[in-house]
Amino acid sequence: MLLHSFALLSLLALVQLAICAEDYYKILGVDKQATNKQLKAAYKKLAVKFHPDKRNGDEESAHQKLVELSEAYEVLSDAELRQIYDRHGHDGVKQHKNGGQGGGFHDPFDLFSRFFGGHGHYGHSSQEPRGHNVDVKIKISLRDFYNGATTEFQWNRQHICETCEGTGSADGQVDTCSVCGGHGVRIVKQQLAPGMFQQMQMRCDACGGRGKSIKHKCPVCNGQRVERKPTTVTLQVERGAARDSKVVYENEADESPDWVAGDLVVTLAEKEPAPEDNPDKVDGAYFRRKGDDLYWTEVLSLREAWMGGWTRNITHLDSHVVRLGRTRGQVVQSGHVETIPGEGMPKWHEDGESPGHQHEFGNLYVTYEVILPDQMEKKMENDFWDLWEKWRAKQGVDLHKDSGRPEPAMARDEL
Ligand SMILES: [Zn+2]
Ligand SMILES: [Zn+2]
Repeated sequence: MLLHSFALLSLLALVQLAICAEDYYKILGVDKQATNKQLKAAYKKLAVKFHPDKRNGDEESAHQKLVELSEAYEVLSDAELRQIYDRHGHDGVKQHKNGGQGGGFHDPFDLFSRFFGGHGHYGHSSQEPRGHNVDVKIKISLRDFYNGATTEFQWNRQHICETCEGTGSADGQVDTCSVCGGHGVRIVKQQLAPGMFQQMQMRCDACGGRGKSIKHKCPVCNGQRVERKPTTVTLQVERGAARDSKVVYENEADESPDWVAGDLVVTLAEKEPAPEDNPDKVDGAYFRRKGDDLYWTEVLSLREAWMGGWTRNITHLDSHVVRLGRTRGQVVQSGHVETIPGEGMPKWHEDGESPGHQHEFGNLYVTYEVILPDQMEKKMENDFWDLWEKWRAKQGVDLHKDSGRPEPAMARDEL
């Protein structure tokens, strides 16, 4: 019995050990054949996700995750360490580190900042230089505002050069500038008049004020430490988002080793309706939007406006049909505006369409325009004329009453 529980205990200890030191490949979510580029991409993706400044609550476990990530990346991105790890596992790496010069791992935030600029932390401290924000205007069709949409756009973002990891150096070697001694500035004496000198501080042009010089420039960024390349951004247009509303991507503007990236700010502009944005031929592509309400103009013939007995189907922006119509005998005046509640835009809500929230909708305002026929067959014209003659002054409207004018002008009824 005693022997049995001892065996169980040691088994438990083994399991514990296995959990403690999780596989580096697993931590980064890559396979054993992963290239350096894949490692980098995996690290970047996960590091952003687990950066403690980005996470609300549970900062401790996020921090722990970042430590694990950088440890895994540090080992696997180093060819020698990776070989040791593949052969001898965590213990091998530990032994190598203890025996060698380094010992221990680096601050995980150092690695983070090498990829993302700044000092590893997002805009927490005010003394941290921050890059400029970048404003982008993206045109969205009314249909996408109504239904919500996920789309992509590209822009030329400045990245920290991946080849030299932001050092600007081909061999990773960065020296202190010999001209300015690393200060980035030089003191220049200028003669104002004989015997009169002025001392001026000037930016060191040998190192561009950085205080560092590079012998072998990185061939990719030409020593600039950064490069511009087209970057694809996924844009989520939420249902009912306001025209010209903004979507902010924190810290996703231009990167630089010298600053924390600013924000990428996307303005959702409304696109003019175009046939290519209307593959389902919905009428609604030509709705006009004002806030949460939509406007539509419907044309009626004289017969329809006066006699009634007509219907219209408007295909809405999500292809559902709104039916307009009048039964026989129902008159529609030209210029009349009909309010159809609930057929406007969905009212934007931060929870979107979720179990806890259903969208409310604005109104649809339909303006009727009556078109009189400007051509008639002679026979038809005669028929109508006779008909009007028969009925005028007997039945009809009081034009004077309807005109609202004060003085009695023509007190005649007219059809
Ligand atoms: Zn480079
Ligand atoms: Zn210098």
